[in-house]
Amino acid sequence: MDVKILGAANEVGRSGFLVNCNGTKLLLDYGVMFGRRGTPPQYPIHVKPKDLDAIIITHAHLDHSGNVPSLFVSGNTDVYATPPTMDLSKMLIEDMLKIEKNAHPFGLPEVNNMMKNSKEIGFKQKVTKGNATFEFRESGHVIGGSTVLVESEKKRLFYTGDIKTNGSRMLREMDMDIGEIDLLITESTYAKTQQIPRKESEAQLIEFANEVMDRKGILFIPSFSVERSQEMACILRSANFKHKIIMDGMALKVNEIMFRHPEYLRDPKIFSEAIKSSTAIREHAERKRAMGEPCVVISPAGMLVGGNAVYYLQQLAFDSKNGIALVSYQGEGTPGKKLLDTGKVSTRGKDLNVTAEVKQFQFSGHADRTELFDMIKKIKGNPKVLAVHGDSESCDMFAQEIHEKFGFETYAPVVNDEITV
Ligand SMILES: [Zn+2]
Ligand SMILES: [Zn+2]
Repeated sequence: MDVKILGAANEVGRSGFLVNCNGTKLLLDYGVMFGRRGTPPQYPIHVKPKDLDAIIITHAHLDHSGNVPSLFVSGNTDVYATPPTMDLSKMLIEDMLKIEKNAHPFGLPEVNNMMKNSKEIGFKQKVTKGNATFEFRESGHVIGGSTVLVESEKKRLFYTGDIKTNGSRMLREMDMDIGEIDLLITESTYAKTQQIPRKESEAQLIEFANEVMDRKGILFIPSFSVERSQEMACILRSANFKHKIIMDGMALKVNEIMFRHPEYLRDPKIFSEAIKSSTAIREHAERKRAMGEPCVVISPAGMLVGGNAVYYLQQLAFDSKNGIALVSYQGEGTPGKKLLDTGKVSTRGKDLNVTAEVKQFQFSGHADRTELFDMIKKIKGNPKVLAVHGDSESCDMFAQEIHEKFGFETYAPVVNDEITV
């Protein structure tokens, strides 16, 4: 079995790994990396669709799924994913095409072709293609999100995709009952970083929400539409939060998708209660009316880039009674990062001081350093290890530390590298 690294080498974005099982070729993920400040998006190394026996998508985030439609300009390879991953990938890719018109070498017809060739499978459901057998396992990272086990000629590969080993309020923990493996491809996003335990972040957020309600303000939570928004609603409802919770934007579409796949949630009942008791905003006229009393507003985008978040920011940022809770990662150069660093937002070309109270909370979907090493500790066998999906320092350090602590042969590969087991 050999693996060629197509992307996500010393970087986060454009994941892609080509696994060759004695002639049977599987593609694990095929994502995009968004260009910074107007530079074009980047993709994993090109592969010919006709050379592939199967395409396997670990989860819907665009750095893993976003370039899959490029394989359907002419191809018709089977695409395997869990049902929520298929639904969410379609939604996120269509949204990407809407926002970045003509930036990608494919359009809606290719997305439809991808869907026509999709084969939905659940966790632990084995599929055999030629010389290879593969299956998904739970990753704890996002709804429907998976790790992948590939087996061929007595060699076993485990690819983590993105993982949150402890899971979250929404998701069960990662499945580590995987047996002995010969090759591990692991994400390294937070290999250097320790995070505050989720329970503490939840308690901090609830306290902040109550403080803002007590002073009759409105709490704005800009949040990623996929699952972070729903998690915020669930945290507040589970803490018996009595005030109105408003949900807006693409998070509403995600609610519908999540309702269709309750078996992928840790606690479908709490999810259902939280969402059904919240107020959905579907028209512009409803927005202002809904904010007539102390309440919480949950709306994408998490980094305050575009959409309804801009409207809410203008309405809520300039009143000291209000609060803004940043619960998503804030990328360099985004309005969210600027707000955190300078306390200002841009309005009609002018930078204005925000008077609402701004606080940041840690709710990452990725395993932190402790969780990553706990995961490595549970690995059985003596695998070669590839550390990917992290900045170059994280990948290098993670690879080196795994070697020192566990004695495995480790690499922080570069694009085009090939590893054989
Ligand atoms: Zn992800
Ligand atoms: Zn990722």
